[in-house]
Amino acid sequence: MKKAKKIMNITNLTRMVIALAVLLGLIAIYLVLTGSRSQKNITEITENKTIVVVSSGDTLSGLLLAQGLNHNDVHTIDKVLKSDASISTLRAQRDKLEFIRQGIDSPVSKIIVITSPWNQVELTCGDSGNWACKKIEIARDTRAVYRTGEIQDGDSFYLAGQRAGIPAGILAEVYDLLAFEMDFERDIRAGQKFSVLYEENFSDGKKIDNGRVLAVSFDALRGKVEMYYFKKSDGTSGYYDENGNGAIKSLKRTPINNAKITSKFSKNRKHPVLGYTRAHKGVDFRASTGTPIPAAGAGRVVARSYNRGHGNYVKIRHNGSFETLYAHMSKFAKGVNVGTTVRQGQTIGYVGSTGYSTGPHLHYEIIKDGVHVNPMTVKLPAISNLGKQDKEKFLEYRKVLDNGIKQLSQNPSLYIQL
Ligand SMILES: [Zn+2]
Repeated sequence: MKKAKKIMNITNLTRMVIALAVLLGLIAIYLVLTGSRSQKNITEITENKTIVVVSSGDTLSGLLLAQGLNHNDVHTIDKVLKSDASISTLRAQRDKLEFIRQGIDSPVSKIIVITSPWNQVELTCGDSGNWACKKIEIARDTRAVYRTGEIQDGDSFYLAGQRAGIPAGILAEVYDLLAFEMDFERDIRAGQKFSVLYEENFSDGKKIDNGRVLAVSFDALRGKVEMYYFKKSDGTSGYYDENGNGAIKSLKRTPINNAKITSKFSKNRKHPVLGYTRAHKGVDFRASTGTPIPAAGAGRVVARSYNRGHGNYVKIRHNGSFETLYAHMSKFAKGVNVGTTVRQGQTIGYVGSTGYSTGPHLHYEIIKDGVHVNPMTVKLPAISNLGKQDKEKFLEYRKVLDNGIKQLSQNPSLYIQL
């Protein structure tokens, strides 16, 4: 019996040793994995170059130390990046670091911080161990291309634009521009033609991204809408109609792109919740809960509150005599408070169904000199018109663009350089 017990004890001991070994093994694997964490985002290593894409949780110091730089280097680089390149944090999935060595075993002598395809910061280690910082702008080869399309039966502008080969980002910009002049809900008909002149940016013969929208035209119901991009002599830029009048209005009639109107402005309507007839002082746009609500124009938030009718609402005072109100929000955007200055297009809250509402939608009001007006028909002032000299320059520039467009419409596969 005694012997048997001893044998059992030995078995137990063996088990314990094995368990301990497994545990240690697991710890070792864990340490190896976590130790190599900073290596995981390396995308390319050549003999003297290592490219690291920043991932979330990465810090500049962590990445530098992982490349064998010492704490002194880290401190100096951190300081020089802040002071000379205004870089204080790295952005995950966007920024890249390139570490360059003289030889595979040499210390890092140069670091290139790539913040966009067009902007880099070069850090070079001097003999005395100091780091010099230089901002580099990558030369871009910008080509203007031209695309034309036509609305077909049952089409949306987006569908027709995609068919015309216009990239989604450009299409969204064009939509935003045209939304100042037309109502995509009611002004779209089969047979309407449109065209877009826009930039494509190349570097070393490779397309990197799209640039600005240079010219747009659309056969709207009330006539051709044309807009041209133009840089003024003071360096600011904007879009102007064919005569050089500002095309960007101070307010947008439909703050949310592509949202269907479910209830119009009227002095008299039966309220869907209250039952009795009362004026509908705004326009309702259908949109799902959580859809961002952009400010219709630049201004200052004068109310961010709740009441039984509007639910959560925001009111913005714009330049001149206009105010806009956005109701039934599910929640407010972070940082939007009474007194906050907002840009046109900045998200101020999210669609919801708070207050007297039958379902998620945006109730949008425009108030002019204290009186509610119809957002769809009120005359809205342009943000900026051109001065006399700029207007003359614009008309010259427009001729250049129009000439380019003429050439490209004959040879759609070509591009022009402006
Ligand atoms: Zn409403």
